[in-house]
Amino acid sequence: MTAVPLPYRVTANRPESADTRTIELQPVAEALPVFAPGQFAMVYAFGVGDIPVSVAGIDGSALTHTIRGVGATSRALCAVRAGTQVGVRGPFGTGWDLPSAAGRDLIIVAGGIGLAPLRPLVREALSAPGTYGRLNVLVGARTPADLLYRSELDGWGHPYCGVTVDRAGPEWTGNVGVVTALLDQAAFDPHDTTAFACGPEVMIRAAARELLHRGVPAQHIRISLERNMHCATGHCGHCQLGPLLLCRDGPVVAYDRAKPLLTVREL
Ligand SMILES: Cc1cc2nc3c(=O)[nH]c(=O)nc-3n(C[C@H](O)[C@H](O)[C@H](O)COP(=O)(O)OP(=O)(O)OC[C@H]3O[C@@H](n4cnc5c(N)ncnc54)[C@H](O)[C@@H]3O)c2cc1C
Repeated sequence: MTAVPLPYRVTANRPESADTRTIELQPVAEALPVFAPGQFAMVYAFGVGDIPVSVAGIDGSALTHTIRGVGATSRALCAVRAGTQVGVRGPFGTGWDLPSAAGRDLIIVAGGIGLAPLRPLVREALSAPGTYGRLNVLVGARTPADLLYRSELDGWGHPYCGVTVDRAGPEWTGNVGVVTALLDQAAFDPHDTTAFACGPEVMIRAAARELLHRGVPAQHIRISLERNMHCATGHCGHCQLGPLLLCRDGPVVAYDRAKPLLTVREL
């Protein structure tokens, strides 16, 4: 991990939806240590600012990030052109730690941009056939146009990849409704399952509630939490949630640890 951003060259920038882009980065010279799925980088748009962004793809020293433009810095990063440079610090935070779930059924629940940090986890599970039990990927988005990685989703369907949207037009023939409803179609043994969830906090709480209801213990539900982060090194306190500094102790936290804190509103 470095305290100063290293220069990375943008090698691709493609649209995912109206407000979301996926960018690919290659180190210009020195590379950061290899990221683990679930960890995040501080990505710096020169002259604008830096923001925490999860790794959405890891290929050696190359990084993929999927960014929704919501403010000055994220919009500047969505607008970067191939060939230009950004600064990157990291890796920061805790990862999903998939290897510790070896032999267990997997449930991955994603809402909206929350699919970005889960994408390398899905790919890690798919790249190790026989290492894990049944893989269930449940994806929710506001509308069909907001779905990320549409060309990849079909390839994740073994044994189950369910996609649902909150609102759809007549062209949509798939599921409509909350992502947690897809749990009814998932195949898993609740006592031998590890679940991973990322998305809006209301979705995370609903997913955890449904998983608990079906018998998945809280310590086997891992969630990724976002708070405003500045230093990303556990010093400034911006991302404090109860006793946790989420840049250091998160963003991935077991639900039994996070649940008592989720009533704390972000400042
Ligand atoms: C660990 C972590 C991983 C993240 N991964 C991704 C990712 O992979 N892709 C992605 O698009 N975004 C991700 N985010 C959110 C991203 O960091 C924020 O959208 C970004 O900081 C907004 O900065 P801005 O300068 O563009 O906008 P600002 O002007 O700072 O904020 C614009 C709006 O976004 C809200 N906002 C700011 N920071 C956050 C935050 N951390 N979480 C939620 N809302 C926020 C503000 O309250 C405001 O309403 C992640 C955040 C964290 C903490």
